[in-house]
Amino acid sequence: MSSTPLLKVDAIDASIGAINILHGVSLSVASGELVTVIGANGAGKTTLLRVISNVLKPRAGQVEFDGVSTTEVDAYRLARRGLIHVPQGRQIVPTLSVYDNLIIGAECSEIVNSDDFIESLEREYSRFPVLRERKDLAAGSLSGGEQQMLAVSRALMMRPKLLMLDEPSLGLAPQIVRIILNALRQLADEGIAVLLIEQVAMAALSVADNAHVLRNGKIALSGTASDLRRDQALIESYLG
Ligand code: ATP
Repeated sequence: MSSTPLLKVDAIDASIGAINILHGVSLSVASGELVTVIGANGAGKTTLLRVISNVLKPRAGQVEFDGVSTTEVDAYRLARRGLIHVPQGRQIVPTLSVYDNLIIGAECSEIVNSDDFIESLEREYSRFPVLRERKDLAAGSLSGGEQQMLAVSRALMMRPKLLMLDEPSLGLAPQIVRIILNALRQLADEGIAVLLIEQVAMAALSVADNAHVLRNGKIALSGTASDLRRDQALIESYLG
């Protein structure tokens, strides 16, 4: 794991309209590290990802990604620089085939028509073999778990340095959640920085290196994932 964080979030305050949502939130993620932010509905998790992606300007604080202040860079340029956000709800294109959805990712990283494209495609088909089996089917015909795998693979076709995921487990069966989370662990082990937003606390803690509990827009608890896992009752009390 590199010692210099790829992402540094420093004392962020953020509002939506007149409502203050985030209060002094700080965290960091290094290449090769999987950090999870867990919190109940409405804790501010999605708002935090929107600030990091520069979709929402913070009222105060700084976000630095790969040496640049994200508030100075348009969201699509941040994606080109390797900051990739898989939003809640996946946002795959249901009428396009699995393969064409993967092409969309490749177009963002400009690797279509190169050897890198074939290599990346093969890597994703090996990561989630069901995508190879279903490559010609409309993405909308896939199960929820398969769609989430496609959303992750499409994001990886964009060549992320930092992959941020907003509750990838939402609505999925535990065994599918396990497949997705294990794939995220593997990505971190391959050197990608992963920021995982989750409500399924124990599952997220089982694959993460470090963790933060977000409650009412504040970091209520931080530590190594293995330390936090030891006190399930405390974590659950924070999640309400
Ligand atoms: P969930 O797990 O339910 O997705 P979350 O932790 O991601 O929740 P956010 O979506 O960041 O939480 O929302 C944080 C708070 O901001 C919530 O109280 C929510 O109601 C409020 N909020 C979010 N979007 C808006 C909006 N457009 N207008 C007003 N309030 C909003």
